[in-house]
Amino acid sequence: MVKYTIHVARGPVARFMRRCGWAGVTIPLRRAHVVMWGEPDMAELRHELAHVDQIARLGRLRWLATILGQYVRHGHKRAPLEVEARRAAGQDE
Ligand SMILES: [Zn+2]
Repeated sequence: MVKYTIHVARGPVARFMRRCGWAGVTIPLRRAHVVMWGEPDMAELRHELAHVDQIARLGRLRWLATILGQYVRHGHKRAPLEVEARRAAGQDE
């Protein structure tokens, strides 16, 4: 189990995330930080918590190296850890 904190971004962080098209982002520090903005979106929250589960399974450094490598090789949408998180959240397929 990885401890995590859910943050609701406001102001410039929320604007930056909106401009990037990110509904949420998970940052694997000592504890995982799930950052979201705007109205609560339960599917997106489940998606980010699936990333927290991945961090628990792989360890934070291995998860970060793996997912960044997958973004480079497959792109964000097709990265296997993203596909897994979307499936866990019931977001597609
Ligand atoms: Zn994701």
